[in-house]
Amino acid sequence: MDSNYPSDWSSRQKKVKRRDNHQCQNCGALGGSRGEAELHAHHGVPISKGGSHRLGNLTTYCKDCHRAIHIEDRTAPTTTGGFTPFEQINCQYLTKHPRLAVSAA
Ligand SMILES: [Zn+2]
Ligand SMILES: [Zn+2]
Repeated sequence: MDSNYPSDWSSRQKKVKRRDNHQCQNCGALGGSRGEAELHAHHGVPISKGGSHRLGNLTTYCKDCHRAIHIEDRTAPTTTGGFTPFEQINCQYLTKHPRLAVSAA
């Protein structure tokens, strides 16, 4: 698909998810061995804009939050509250994590 991805990309993804405790850093959904959310490793700075595949540029998001980030085309999810209109994403886990959802309202 994308030949720019490093050959150890799958193991890097695993490391990122482990570092983030298999939890979506946006809504708190749990995946891996801890829950049923499908987790993705997202590039804070996109590769197309000079971002790297290093762990420091990767963040764990669930599938729904990840899609929302890309739909919004925001590139800095670290600016909390700045990237996703939560009422517009269909994240089934938000209701389970009201504490986390509030910070983005
Ligand atoms: Zn999420
Ligand atoms: Zn992404």
